[in-house]
Amino acid sequence: MKPPRGLSRGANAPPPSSASLAEPQVLPAAGKTFPTHVPVVIVAGGGCGLSAGLAAHDAGATALVLERDTVCRGSTSMSAGLIPAAGSKGQRAAGIDDTPALFVADIMARTKGQTDRAVVETLVGQSAAMIDWLVEAHGIPLQPVTGWAAFGHSRPRLHQLPNAQQGEDLLSALLDACGRAGVDVVTGARVTTLFADPDGRVRGVALLRPDGSREEIGCDALVLATCGFGANHAMVAANIPEMKDATYFGPEGNRGDGMVWGAALGADLRDMSAYQGHPCLAQPQGIDMNLEPLMKGGIHVNANGARYFHEVDNVSAAALRVIAQPGRFAWYVYGEKQFRLALGSPRAREADAVGAFRYGETPEALARAIGVPPDALAATIADVQRLADTGETCPFGRRFVREDRLEGPFRAVRVTGALYHTQGGLRIDGNARVLHADGSPLPNLFAGGGAAVGISGPGREGYLPGNGLLCALGFGRIAGTNAAKLATRG
Ligand SMILES: Cc1cc2nc3c(=O)[nH]c(=O)nc-3n(C[C@H](O)[C@H](O)[C@H](O)COP(=O)(O)OP(=O)(O)OC[C@H]3O[C@@H](n4cnc5c(N)ncnc54)[C@H](O)[C@@H]3O)c2cc1C
Repeated sequence: MKPPRGLSRGANAPPPSSASLAEPQVLPAAGKTFPTHVPVVIVAGGGCGLSAGLAAHDAGATALVLERDTVCRGSTSMSAGLIPAAGSKGQRAAGIDDTPALFVADIMARTKGQTDRAVVETLVGQSAAMIDWLVEAHGIPLQPVTGWAAFGHSRPRLHQLPNAQQGEDLLSALLDACGRAGVDVVTGARVTTLFADPDGRVRGVALLRPDGSREEIGCDALVLATCGFGANHAMVAANIPEMKDATYFGPEGNRGDGMVWGAALGADLRDMSAYQGHPCLAQPQGIDMNLEPLMKGGIHVNANGARYFHEVDNVSAAALRVIAQPGRFAWYVYGEKQFRLALGSPRAREADAVGAFRYGETPEALARAIGVPPDALAATIADVQRLADTGETCPFGRRFVREDRLEGPFRAVRVTGALYHTQGGLRIDGNARVLHADGSPLPNLFAGGGAAVGISGPGREGYLPGNGLLCALGFGRIAGTNAAKLATRG
């Protein structure tokens, strides 16, 4: 068994000293008894873990969610809260003609066929039912965002809470739903140790409390929802070297623990180079700038005042393009229409409140405000306006349209490319069962969200917006349901 690359402690590490009890590890369950037993234990309380908790409850099992932070947040609460699904009731009511087959085709095209089609079909096939379940069974009023068919989605299929509410609201809504359903969510509970039989059956876990005390809990089935390894610099450097010096914009607790345990139990790891990058993290404010203004005529320019890529082609791959510019940054340029559109997002309003937007009545005035050559920026903006008027395609392959013409006054926010979350991880099947390299499942281990391999294939190119939360909430639901079935079967 090989530990994940970049980790000093893994499958065959020597027995831990007491000083290393805080590190993720798997110990033999032989002879152990647990003071408490819960049929389904779920490690971590982000979107995946909470969805798994709700699903396990709905399938008739008692479930317990253990979250290391003292408040549940995770990447889920940092996200824009946009979840794709094909054929939801909300889409149908909005007159959006979408099908799982179209969505699967978009994913396979974006990944160039380099992801597991059968798993994608299962996940996408239940995506609408997952949204409808959250809406109808758990009172989380997700709605389709009708303006969003870009970056590789051929239909508007992203769903969000009303009024462009973001990930914080989604996470709160999931927590409230857990509260209503009676799913226990324990925070300040950092799981460090799994206890397992030689065949990989997990018998229980140990967790560390903020005061240093330890507790042990037995279980019949375990769901790993610990997300990716973005906060583990050694793992990022080993698996995604192109992003090793990039800003990681995610929770510090996402250190790849699920992958360490899985590998120690003999699980296969897949697509460890996969990640979601993002080209629009406001710098130095650290605010995630929304993409709608970019889709509607906004542009990026570098420190020379020049455009340098097709801004709305591949959002994930674009992060690296920004980092490749002089000084590793770019300016996200808005005309008046794009700025008004930006302010629909609470995060852009926050950026405005802290003075992240620089202002210029004319391109030259904006150039002086942001310190780029005025002639160059004026020429870039004039060219984009001409392209919008003529409908010509720009040298990077982008088409601008007249209704989204970039008109002053102008604003710009300094942005960098960031690593938002990693997309590789534990190999799972369509039932969210964690698999060995030979394709056989581990006895009672499930995974989803960033802890499991996503549906983006390897590298930076395959991510379609929203597929992070689709994997989190979708596989969370599948994992919770199947873990409950296993646990209640006895
Ligand atoms: C700024 C930003 C915007 C994004 N926007 C979108 C979007 O709009 N749509 C989309 O689909 N995706 C988006 N993503 C990606 C998306 O947020 C993630 O793919 C998704 O939230 C992952 O969910 P998760 O439940 O797997 O992980 P998280 O929500 O990150 O939850 C993992 C949890 O595991 C806990 N944990 C880790 N180790 C342990 C341990 N040992 N014991 C106990 N707990 C542990 C962590 O504390 C954390 O709370 C965005 C990401 C970022 C950063």
